[in-house]
Amino acid sequence: MKNLKDFKRNKNNNKSGRPRDGANWFLMIFVALFIAMMGRVIFIGGVTPQMPSDMNVPETVPVELSFSDVLRRAPDIKTMTIRGNDAHGLLADGTKYTATITYDPEMLATLAQGGTAITLDTSKSFWESVATFAPLALTLLFIFWILRGFRRGGPAGIGRSIIGQNPTKIATGKPKTTFKDVAGIDSEKQELSEIVDFLKNKDKYKSLGARVPRGVLLSGQPGTGKTLLARAIAGEANVPFFAASGSDFSGIIVGLGVAKIKEIFEMAKRNAPCILFIDEIDAIGQKRSTHSYNDQDREQTLNQLLIEMDGFANDTGIIVIGATNRPDMLDAALLRPGRFDRQVYIELPDMAGRREILDLYAKKVKIGDGVNLQDLARGTTGFSGADLENLLNEAALHAVRNGRDKISAVDIEEARDKIMMGPRKVRKMRPEDIKLTAYHEAGHAFVSLMYEDVADPIHKATIIPRGRALGMVQHLPIDDKVSMTLAEVRANLSIALAGRCAEEIFFGADKVTTGAESDIAMATRLARYSITTAGLSKKVGLPAINQVGTFGVRGALENASEKTAELVDSEIRAWLDAAHADATKHLTKNKKTVEKLATELLARETLTGAEIREIVFGKEAKKSATKKATKTRKNAVSKK
Ligand code: ADP
Ligand code: ZN
Repeated sequence: MKNLKDFKRNKNNNKSGRPRDGANWFLMIFVALFIAMMGRVIFIGGVTPQMPSDMNVPETVPVELSFSDVLRRAPDIKTMTIRGNDAHGLLADGTKYTATITYDPEMLATLAQGGTAITLDTSKSFWESVATFAPLALTLLFIFWILRGFRRGGPAGIGRSIIGQNPTKIATGKPKTTFKDVAGIDSEKQELSEIVDFLKNKDKYKSLGARVPRGVLLSGQPGTGKTLLARAIAGEANVPFFAASGSDFSGIIVGLGVAKIKEIFEMAKRNAPCILFIDEIDAIGQKRSTHSYNDQDREQTLNQLLIEMDGFANDTGIIVIGATNRPDMLDAALLRPGRFDRQVYIELPDMAGRREILDLYAKKVKIGDGVNLQDLARGTTGFSGADLENLLNEAALHAVRNGRDKISAVDIEEARDKIMMGPRKVRKMRPEDIKLTAYHEAGHAFVSLMYEDVADPIHKATIIPRGRALGMVQHLPIDDKVSMTLAEVRANLSIALAGRCAEEIFFGADKVTTGAESDIAMATRLARYSITTAGLSKKVGLPAINQVGTFGVRGALENASEKTAELVDSEIRAWLDAAHADATKHLTKNKKTVEKLATELLARETLTGAEIREIVFGKEAKKSATKKATKTRKNAVSKK
C-alpha cells in the first residue's frame, strides 16, 4: 500500500503547515484581486490630493467644454479628473462639466497654476484591470511562493513543514513505527539497532569516549523499506524524526539548496537527539564530475551538507540517515569518516523475507483459506516490500469489487498478474488470433511439463491478454534461485521457443507470427549470457567475454576478437536451433495432447498447473508431478 504511506504523510502534513498555508494563499489572491479592482489613482501637479468627488453634486447634466474652453476658463475650473482623453470635474460655481482634451503638460501647468485640483484617474474597468494586474499579481504570488521556502519553521519546528509546502518535505513528531513494522530484513535491523542504542544511551557512549556514528547511508531499490527503517529507528529510540528529500534542495533558485540545508540542520539541532532523514540523497550528493547546468548550485548544496555534518559535535545526538538507490553515484566525500560512514545495503527480500512481509500485511486484511502465502512468496521473486504490500492491497480491492468478504486465491492471482504484467486488456482479437495464441501457450506449457524435473514447475497458462502479452505461461520457482545448471538453461531455451514451434507445427511455417518476439528475445539473452559470461559453451570456453557491470550495464562483446565474436554469434545460433529442434520434437511426438491442451485453453482461458498436468498425464499424475519435481530439485540441491 504505497499509497497508504503517502496518505499518511499528507495527513501528517495537513495537521501541521497545510491549512495555514492554504489561508495564506487565499489571502494573497484576495488582496491581489482587490488591488486590481480598485485600480489606482495618481495625483499630480503639487495639488492637494483629492479623490474624484463629484458624487456629492446633485444629478445635473454636465456641461460640455471644448479643449479651447478648458484653456480659456482655466481659472474657473475647480477640479478636473482626467482619464485618457476624457476629463470631467466641477467648475468654480459647482457645475459639473465634461471635456475632451489632449494630454498636454502645458495645459496641466496652466490649470494647476490657476488652482485647479487635477487628478489623473488611471483606474480601469474590471477586466482591463485584471488584464493589467494579473501578471503583476502572478509575479507577486510567485515571489511569495519562493520566499516561503526560506521561512522558518514554527515553534520548535515539530509538526510543521520544514521547507515549503510539498507534502514530502515533512517533519514529524516521534513516529510510532518500530522494528516490528519492518519484516524480512533482520540482518539490516540488527546492524541498525546499534544506532538505536546510541540514541537511547548517549551518555554511556560519551563517557566511554566512543566515536559515535553521524551518518548512515541506506541504499537499496525503491520500496525496500529504507524510509520505513529510518522511521523505525526513530520510533525505537523514541526521538523525533525529520525527513526531507534530496530533490527538494535543488531548485530554480541558486542558493536555495544551501539555505534549506542550513534550515533543516538548524531544526535538527534544536530537537536533538533526533533522526534527520534525507531521501534521494543522490540528488545532492552526486559525483561532482558530472556536468549539468545547475552543477555549481548543487555543489554548493553538497558542500553545505558536508559542512553541517562535520560541524556538529560528536555528542549532539543527531543521526543523519541518507537513502539512495544509486550508491554508486555518490560523491566519495559523502562517504568519508564522520559523514555517512555507516552503509547498509538493503537487498530485495528473498523468499523467506517475502513470506515474512506477506505475513505481516496479511494480518491487516482478511485472507480466505484457499490462499497459500508460501506459494505467493515463491511466485514473487524480485518484488520489494512495497510491491508485496501493494499486492495484498490490490487483492483486497479485487475481492471487494467481486463482492467477497475475504481475499481468495483468484484475487491474489489477479493482483499478482496485474502488478507483473499490467492490467487485463479488453482487446478485440480475431478468433484466429485467439486460436493461435492458445496453441502457442499450449506449446510452452507442454514442453514445460517435459522438463519439470530440471526447470521450474508450471504454475498456470492463460490466453487472457495483459500488458503487451497476448497470453502467457507462468512458472513457480521452488526456491530462490541463484544459479542455473546447464541442463536447466537448455530446458528453458526449449520452453521459451516452444510457443513458436507450436505455431509452426499447427498452422504452418508461413503462418507464424511476431507474437513470439519476447520469447525470442528472452532466449537469445539467456543463451548469450550462458555463452559469453557464464562459460557454459565448450566451443567458446571459459573466458568471460561480456563483463556484467553494475546494474546490468553490459558492454557488447568487449573482450572479444573478431573471430571470437563470430564464434559467439554462431554458438548462440546453434543453441537456439538445438532448442528449437528439441521443442519441435516433443510437440510433434505428442500432437494430440498439445491439441487437447490448446482446446481446453480456448474453452477455459486459464489452466492451473494441476489442470495442465491432468490433461497431459491423466488424473493419477495430477498431484505427484510437483512432488516429483520438488524431490528432484532437493536432490539436486543436496548434491551441490
Ligand atoms: P524506500 O524508502 O526504500 O523506497 P519505503 O520505506 O518508502 O521504501 O517503503 C514503502 C512501503 O513499503 C513502506 O511504507 C512499507 O509499508 C512497505 N515496506 C517496504 N519494505 C518493507 C519491509 N521490509 N517490511 C514491511 N513493510 C515494508
Ligand atoms: Zn510465448
